[in-house]
Amino acid sequence: MLTLHEVAANSCSVGVECIHCIHRAVFTAKDLRAKQGDRRTLADAGVRCGECGSRQFSVVQFTSPDKAHAFLRNR
Ligand SMILES: [Zn+2]
Repeated sequence: MLTLHEVAANSCSVGVECIHCIHRAVFTAKDLRAKQGDRRTLADAGVRCGECGSRQFSVVQFTSPDKAHAFLRNR
């Protein structure tokens, strides 16, 4: 799974989709307080579904803000 280090290193946003209820959310490196060298995964850092509270989610890394917006639209 994606680590905070990777989020910080790429300074991109990431999308998470809950495996349980398919709720989607987008986080930036700043939202996650991601720092290089932090090897925790998003779940380790306390990310959970805003709808059902599940910690099981799939993660997508975006290379541009447009892709993050498309991710939120195409739910
Ligand atoms: Zn959920």
